[in-house]
Amino acid sequence: MFDNLSDKLDKAFHILKGHGKITEVNVAETLKEVRRALLDADVNFKIAKDFTTRVKEKALGQDVLTTLQPGQLLVKLVKDELTELMGGDVAGVNLSGNPTVILMSGLQGSGKTTFSGKLANYLLNKKNKKPLLVACDIYRPAAIQQLYVVGDSIGVEVYSEPENKNPVEIAQNAIKHAKENGFNVVIVDTAGRLAVDTEMMDEISRVHKAIQPQETLFVVDAMTGQDAVNTAKAFNDILNFDGVILTKLDGDTRGGAALSIKSVVNKPIKFVGTGEKMEAIDVFYPIRMAERILGMGDVVSLVERAQEQFDEEEARKIQKKIAKNEFGFDDFLTQIQQVKKMGNMKDLVGMIPGASKAMKDVEIEDDAFKHIEAIIHSMTPAERSKPSLIDVKRKARISKGSGTKIEQVNQLMKQFEQMSKMMKMMQGPGGKNLMKMMGG
Ligand code: GDP
Repeated sequence: MFDNLSDKLDKAFHILKGHGKITEVNVAETLKEVRRALLDADVNFKIAKDFTTRVKEKALGQDVLTTLQPGQLLVKLVKDELTELMGGDVAGVNLSGNPTVILMSGLQGSGKTTFSGKLANYLLNKKNKKPLLVACDIYRPAAIQQLYVVGDSIGVEVYSEPENKNPVEIAQNAIKHAKENGFNVVIVDTAGRLAVDTEMMDEISRVHKAIQPQETLFVVDAMTGQDAVNTAKAFNDILNFDGVILTKLDGDTRGGAALSIKSVVNKPIKFVGTGEKMEAIDVFYPIRMAERILGMGDVVSLVERAQEQFDEEEARKIQKKIAKNEFGFDDFLTQIQQVKKMGNMKDLVGMIPGASKAMKDVEIEDDAFKHIEAIIHSMTPAERSKPSLIDVKRKARISKGSGTKIEQVNQLMKQFEQMSKMMKMMQGPGGKNLMKMMGG
């Protein structure tokens, strides 16, 4: 996510390193590089210029030249400014109204239908809501079908009227259906076009007026950079929407959209989409994003995700097994599955401070545990619960069965051994507290 921008900003700050004394000249030079990095990330020229002007003013106001660690202060000022640029505070969804009506707008292909599903899934599981999805695209039967597939996958009902060619009526009928059947959130997915046109705008504006949604969300593909900003402006002029959803942030986006949209339409980014799966939705926290861009990681999100996946019962079982010396490969597999639920590896590495930079040239597979899982699956149940059984002959069989190299099997055995040792140590005197700290 935003690797290029992170890289360039890091290089900009390097100018200050190695200089015994910081001068106004090299601060200016650093900020020039910061500006260039922003422009390369497809941030609008004026926004980038104002950005560095503000940082410079603050830096001079705070005597950046005489502080002990001027480099760090400058990084902090840039972080604050990035946070501000992306919206400052976190903005939640307005869930007032019964039912709450949420209207989705945006171009075709922006990820509207996918996001409608993600939002329904989020509200169902995290906010205890009973959502209804509504298909209002009267032009593409495939779009209605797609919403059904999405709804099915998350167990959320979909409302549609395939014969009705009036989206206003469909939306109104859907709200009526929701009221009669106890749904407390109605998510209306609308038809998008490939580009902004008056017909589409007329249609969505009619639907908007008729159903008076509590939340009108504009969905945009982050990969489209400045175009995203222009489209946002066009939709905002008509709908005066409440928030922006940036999708496809998992891709190789330069970051321009995330950094510019707030300044142009003055509406917050509320969520981001980070993948095609229904779980790939994140509340947007400007400060956490700024920290990630500056390579400071995002430990808060990492811990939150770990907590979400943390299963207390499972942890207790594992702890007992360690105490009894019974921790085996099946337990190891369970642990891996828990980590996997937290998200894809690239994303997780990006949340660890400094890790993105350190691992910049390392190819991280999306499924980094593939080989480990294959190896464990090739073991017999007896081998899994008693790893000491695994001798050279068995190793060769496991390697063959799992399609991995013998070195990979050896490596896993070694890692497992080290991990078991460490776990035993944590059980010993002094270790108990550490386990407690980790939630055990
Ligand atoms: P719509 O036409 O606006 O309803 O867009 P869709 O929901 O059909 O999405 C268009 C394509 O983008 C589909 O292939 C989705 O799977 C994909 N997509 C949507 N959101 C994301 C995301 O956050 N990340 C990635 N990688 N793909 C996404």
